[in-house]
Amino acid sequence: MRFDVVIIGAGAAGLFCAAQAGKRGRKVLVLEHNAQVGRKIIISGGGRCNFTNVNARPENFISQNPHFCKSALARYTPQNFVELVKKYRIEFYEKKLGQLFCRDSSGQIVEMLIDECRRAKVEIRTNCSAKNIFKNDLFEIETDQGKFTCESLVIASGGLSIPQLGATDFGYRIARQFDLKIVETKPALVPLVFQNSFPAKFKSLAGVSLDAAVSVGKTTFCENILFTHRGLSGPAILQISSYLKRGEKISFNLLPTKNAFEILQNSKESRKELGNFLGEILPQRFASAFCETITGSKPLKNYSEKELKAIAEKLHAWQIGFDETEGNRKAEVTLGGVSTDELSSKTMEAKLVKNLYFIGEVVDVTGWLGGYNFQWAWSSGFAAGEFV
Ligand SMILES: Cc1cc2nc3c(=O)[nH]c(=O)nc-3n(C[C@H](O)[C@H](O)[C@H](O)COP(=O)(O)OP(=O)(O)OC[C@H]3O[C@@H](n4cnc5c(N)ncnc54)[C@H](O)[C@@H]3O)c2cc1C
Repeated sequence: MRFDVVIIGAGAAGLFCAAQAGKRGRKVLVLEHNAQVGRKIIISGGGRCNFTNVNARPENFISQNPHFCKSALARYTPQNFVELVKKYRIEFYEKKLGQLFCRDSSGQIVEMLIDECRRAKVEIRTNCSAKNIFKNDLFEIETDQGKFTCESLVIASGGLSIPQLGATDFGYRIARQFDLKIVETKPALVPLVFQNSFPAKFKSLAGVSLDAAVSVGKTTFCENILFTHRGLSGPAILQISSYLKRGEKISFNLLPTKNAFEILQNSKESRKELGNFLGEILPQRFASAFCETITGSKPLKNYSEKELKAIAEKLHAWQIGFDETEGNRKAEVTLGGVSTDELSSKTMEAKLVKNLYFIGEVVDVTGWLGGYNFQWAWSSGFAAGEFV
């Protein structure tokens, strides 16, 4: 069973690449070990797939080489994907910050990709797990449905997040087999777990959310944070989790658009308890926990100016350390992956192994939350699809 191109993984990147290569007249086979293709697309964006971000720029991606993604992103842009979505009459809307979602269901994106593959005469085999790769003149792929040979091999097997959806380390294993460097992987866009020493009071706030500016070093995200039973989640936390290094603390500005000292000063004659006062500008349950564990609470008029200053500082720069994340089970993506040093930014081909390509999440290019990761899947899939 000989093909021009075999693609391992029928996720976003693999299916998109297959359709591009098929349109060029290449005989393409896609192997997927799940029974269904595009399972991550199906569950993405709460079932509505945040399929791109109209503002996607190289700055929205994390990689040891921040320039690597530029070429692919420029050659297949969010607008290009939007045109395709429009051609299929899939209704969509911008939720916020340039994030485009399907109005009905993410299944429409999967159907669109399958249709694109069908038109390009791509063969898709599901329930087919790639086990081993051998290379002579051609690549030989050993699977549980027999052996396939091909001239060009594309690894689109994704990252490690959500093993229940079929995530494997296959791509990294193949990279190692061919002596390609891997940038250390770790779960990203992932909820964080409080340290054991963190006041237990905050664990009882599960479900409470508020807007905050969260920072690590020079990186800040200003969005919602959500208390969980074990720690914190919400868009701002998922975003900052990709930047957090072991031992670093996150700084929380709980009143990012206000001047806390000014607000407290203006009410310094008030008999109101601090906890109740803060409950008017922050969720009351959070304000009570914050005062109970961090600042204490007494009538505002009993605070000195120095004390009010210290409270304001805490509200603008509350420092919390986290040792643990919720891991691959809950992470949306994997940070790190096949080093971009090893790949051509134009074609995604390995520099040292002719005709071997890596695309999508398996590569050390990780997008922010908000449609960027799918855009990387489309752009890198397109780049390889033009050359395989
Ligand atoms: C819950 C969740 C929600 C998300 N929401 C969004 C969102 O709204 N917007 C966004 O931009 N990003 C989102 N993401 C991230 C996005 O889904 C991924 O970045 C994207 O799917 C990566 O595409 P990929 O094709 O590289 O990998 P994948 O989509 O993971 O596809 C890889 C495929 O390879 C298959 N595979 C693995 N090993 C083998 C093997 N040995 N043999 C055969 N097949 C194999 C897997 O089963 C899988 O189907 C979300 C992720 C999660 C987990």
